[in-house]
Amino acid sequence: MAENKQTKDKMQQIISLCKRRGFVFPSSEIYGGFSAVYDLGPYGVELANNIKAAWWKAMVQERENIVGLDSAIFMHSKIWEASGHVGGFADPLTECKKCNSRLRVDHLLEEAGVMADEKMTEDEINKLFDEHKSKIKCPSCGKNDWTKVKKFNLLVKANLGNFTEDWSRDPVYLRGETCQGIYVNYLNVLNSSRVQIPFGIAQIGKAFRNEVTARQFIFRTREFEQMEMQYFCSPNQEMEEYEKLRQSRWQYYLNLGISEKNLKWHKHENLVFYAKEAYDIEYNFPFGFKELEGIHARSDYDLSQHSKFSGVALDYTDPETKEKYIPHIIESSVGVGRTMLAVLTEAFVEEQLEKGETRIVLKFPAKLAPIKAAIFPLLANKPELVEKARSIFNELKKDFMCEFDDSGNIGKRYRRQDEIGTLVALTCDFETLENNTITLRDRDTMAQIRVDVAKIKEILEKIIEGEQFLSFGKKIK
Ligand code: ATP
Repeated sequence: MAENKQTKDKMQQIISLCKRRGFVFPSSEIYGGFSAVYDLGPYGVELANNIKAAWWKAMVQERENIVGLDSAIFMHSKIWEASGHVGGFADPLTECKKCNSRLRVDHLLEEAGVMADEKMTEDEINKLFDEHKSKIKCPSCGKNDWTKVKKFNLLVKANLGNFTEDWSRDPVYLRGETCQGIYVNYLNVLNSSRVQIPFGIAQIGKAFRNEVTARQFIFRTREFEQMEMQYFCSPNQEMEEYEKLRQSRWQYYLNLGISEKNLKWHKHENLVFYAKEAYDIEYNFPFGFKELEGIHARSDYDLSQHSKFSGVALDYTDPETKEKYIPHIIESSVGVGRTMLAVLTEAFVEEQLEKGETRIVLKFPAKLAPIKAAIFPLLANKPELVEKARSIFNELKKDFMCEFDDSGNIGKRYRRQDEIGTLVALTCDFETLENNTITLRDRDTMAQIRVDVAKIKEILEKIIEGEQFLSFGKKIK
């Protein structure tokens, strides 16, 4: 990872803001923490919910032939044999003999400009690492003394309902990815809804992996949430549909407010044997361009494997041509946490104001902002202002996530709302009591206008839809 001072600072600033303002907390903190697991705080859960809603809208609501699913985390253990996870879902690991840091060998090699192949056996990756390790230094202590490479399985074992003495004989796993729940429900969905090939199944849910490399904040965690869409098509539709999916996923990020200069395609050169093509969309995180989403053309591998292991026929007969085949699958897969980190990176701005003051503001796209409006009485010790502000808050909260705040001075309240990315702030003053108008302050420009209280709902709706703030009134400040 490129870690110059500036990028390190931005990452540290984001991590600290997330903790300070209640977006992301380290797990089990009062017990000393729990590595590579995080909890979402009050604003984090709002942001994650808004991201999931935007994904669901783009992938399910606005599509005619994609339907949703919520499969369970626990599944039959044979599913993980069929998927290849029991045998092959392993990362190559080495340990620094000086400081005991455990690191992924494919990542160390990548930093040294050498690409390792996911399919390499332990012997093969050891050989490749031996050839290059003399020039690879430990990122923690700077030394150069490595243990042999071991492949480490990422599946997390559980002992649910397992009453035998020997758990290892009949293991149950926490799912390592959500898509297997989609594959094994393919037939149920086909038989119970009005879909016909081509069609897709979308799902948002938790996945668990024994990740070796921690310390990357919410970019890589051991418990995370995936948003996955698996699209079932005929063999000759596969590549055409794949291209369409790639284009629509790129557009999705632009619509989400990610700037195009911070996105990049990464084509996989070493494909697994069954894959037709694989691309990642990479985002320019504070530590450089890294995978945000994977978009893969997977051939008929997944359903063929499940058909073989379950003994259930999973082929499809085209109602018109009567052609029979096992559906091919193209997939789009992205983490909620990784999207959050991309959105936070994109939104985080530190501005220099007059008088040497700095302002930290999260300029979230309107749809994603956790809080849409903050409502303040100008003075907290004037009951008539507090009462009026509260009545406006009580009305607005029916339609938007809002906050009422009467603590500290107005400047402090604005600062706090800027740091959590609240779209607008409304301040109720004495004029409000006289003529029912209120000041509305824009987060991004800090411009203020005066609007009719009765119009706030309509104005907010339009701002969320993307209309310009100043189109609703003349700037008074
Ligand atoms: P990486 O190479 O970064 O380990 P991967 O190629 O193993 O990722 P996939 O298995 O393709 O990832 O998972 C699809 C998506 O799920 C990723 O693009 C990422 O957004 C998300 N994801 C995967 N692993 C994690 C994790 N440990 N923490 C957070 N998100 C993850």
